[in-house]
Amino acid sequence: MTLNENSSKYFPYEKYREKQLKLIEMTKKSILEKTHLVIQAPAGFGKTICVLAGALEATEKNNLKILWICRTHREADRVIDEAKEIYSINPWISAITIRARSELCPMPISNEIRRDAESFSILCSEIKKRRLCPYYSPQKIKNIELPAIGSIKDITKQCLEHHICPYESIRKKIGKYKIISLAYLYVLKQPIFKRLNINEEKCILVIDEAHNILEAAQKLLSEKITIKSLKMTLIEAKKYKVNVAEEITNKILEIINGVKNEKIIDKEKFASKIEKETAKKVEEIAKHLLEIGMKIRRQLASENKIPRSHIHHLGKFISLLSNAIGKEEYSLILRENEIELLCFDPKSIMRRLFKKFFTTISLSGTISNRYNKIMGIKQARFLEITLKYNPDQILSIIASNVTSDYEKRNPQMYRKMLEYIIVTSEIINAGIGIFTASYNVLKGIIEAGILNIKKPVFIEDENMTSRMNEIQIELFKEKARKNGAIYLGVCGGRASEGVDYPGKEMDVVILAGIPFPEPTPSIKAKIKYYEKKYGRKMGKLYGYIIPSMWKVAQAAGRVIRGPEDRGAIIYLDKRYQKYSKLLPKWMRPRKTIHDAAELKEELSLFFA
Ligand code: SF4
Repeated sequence: MTLNENSSKYFPYEKYREKQLKLIEMTKKSILEKTHLVIQAPAGFGKTICVLAGALEATEKNNLKILWICRTHREADRVIDEAKEIYSINPWISAITIRARSELCPMPISNEIRRDAESFSILCSEIKKRRLCPYYSPQKIKNIELPAIGSIKDITKQCLEHHICPYESIRKKIGKYKIISLAYLYVLKQPIFKRLNINEEKCILVIDEAHNILEAAQKLLSEKITIKSLKMTLIEAKKYKVNVAEEITNKILEIINGVKNEKIIDKEKFASKIEKETAKKVEEIAKHLLEIGMKIRRQLASENKIPRSHIHHLGKFISLLSNAIGKEEYSLILRENEIELLCFDPKSIMRRLFKKFFTTISLSGTISNRYNKIMGIKQARFLEITLKYNPDQILSIIASNVTSDYEKRNPQMYRKMLEYIIVTSEIINAGIGIFTASYNVLKGIIEAGILNIKKPVFIEDENMTSRMNEIQIELFKEKARKNGAIYLGVCGGRASEGVDYPGKEMDVVILAGIPFPEPTPSIKAKIKYYEKKYGRKMGKLYGYIIPSMWKVAQAAGRVIRGPEDRGAIIYLDKRYQKYSKLLPKWMRPRKTIHDAAELKEELSLFFA
């Protein structure tokens, strides 16, 4: 559709794609009516530009800001790129993004410290306090004029030319911008958000890739301590003569020792054992340990050492534990070599997001109208954008003789899965993405012999740094464009979400299994919690099945990156017959095959 008098003045492109105008209108309406909006739209549809255009129209006469939170830097940069396009036709708008201090700091500080954002922050405070940072000049930072559309690259360049700290400059000016894109963490962690000096009630919160927000919040309220870390705590406690840390650590070690299989323990009884041991309340203990730990960290920073403290870590664990007492959404789990406090339902964080902000817009290619229920939003408008694909654009198939069901996993099952992969690799000379249910399934497929396939095979490694992973994905894409390549990763991993594979980069996605978590005691406790909250049937659906199917949909969605794209999705698990209705309509399987020979036939016909 071409632009006319109904067009949005913030839409910078010549033509609207199907349904884009509808999304702009719905965004505007929801903001004006102060109603939460949940949007499911396929990748490549142009969600970002439409929501920005609608939100800018709705807020042009007031001082509401658009706070756009993302899971990855790539997604945050995309917002700035689109804002740049809007700026070319509407130069009153402004947009900025921010990164962690450790990423933007130009000081010669080791990568080891940079990897730990909290330690880096302590080190930076110490350096500033001792006036050792040549880039920290409050006056210069106050005076610098940052660009109206501030990409990280442009701001860093400008700040370094003026010899001032890019992080402090952005932090100082961020509140003046209309559009602010940043990582989830800045908003989920209230103390970090407060430092930005932004009034949440005056912000429209856009949650990008919203299917990830719950897990991100759960992680913030969960904490794990290993035996190794506890042993280091003992050394530190002796060195700094912190008796209480020594007593608690010995008690926890006594509880963990000898544990072989995962088990849930009563967190209240655990807390009272600690209280009995120290004759202090857990809140007091936590406060004390956090204070001492912080002192140690500052001292280490002043001695130019890595400001890390195991006592501080223990304090954090005890602090979360004291907050969890009496709350059924937390479980305390013992495993061989570790103890973990796990939060199943980060209600406090979710409540803040959906109550404090002016309104919210949740965006994803996978969420359904059940998102409200899972997030605890009372009322929201749900918009599902489905594009009409021609039947010859998408081939979606289920294989009926394979599964990643825990009871049925064995070398023979992995060999059967591999047969489908081999056939696909013989026909497809483009990118093939294989996303497994878990690292265990991935290992099973390697052991079955995937490396014998005569095509470059790239394998995801959970211990790889994100930078190394990005390099590996780029290499895979390069090979995929030439003569074809295979990427073997996991659902919910770094390659199955937030990465685009245009053209020939991923013509086929194979889902090897369904990523249902292993039914460990902690997973069973989570399901029980959700069953209590939503009833027996819905509890399992909300707490276990839907989050896994969102991961599947993300991975399957890599295949189509735009309305004209073509590709095949192969579901290697017969259970998809039961659960596929939880997937967006366009990716639901339409055919069932029974062996690799049938797949060969289907692929040959489709890609002929
Ligand atoms: S003020 Fe900026 S440049 Fe200086 S140490 Fe901190 S982050 Fe680095």
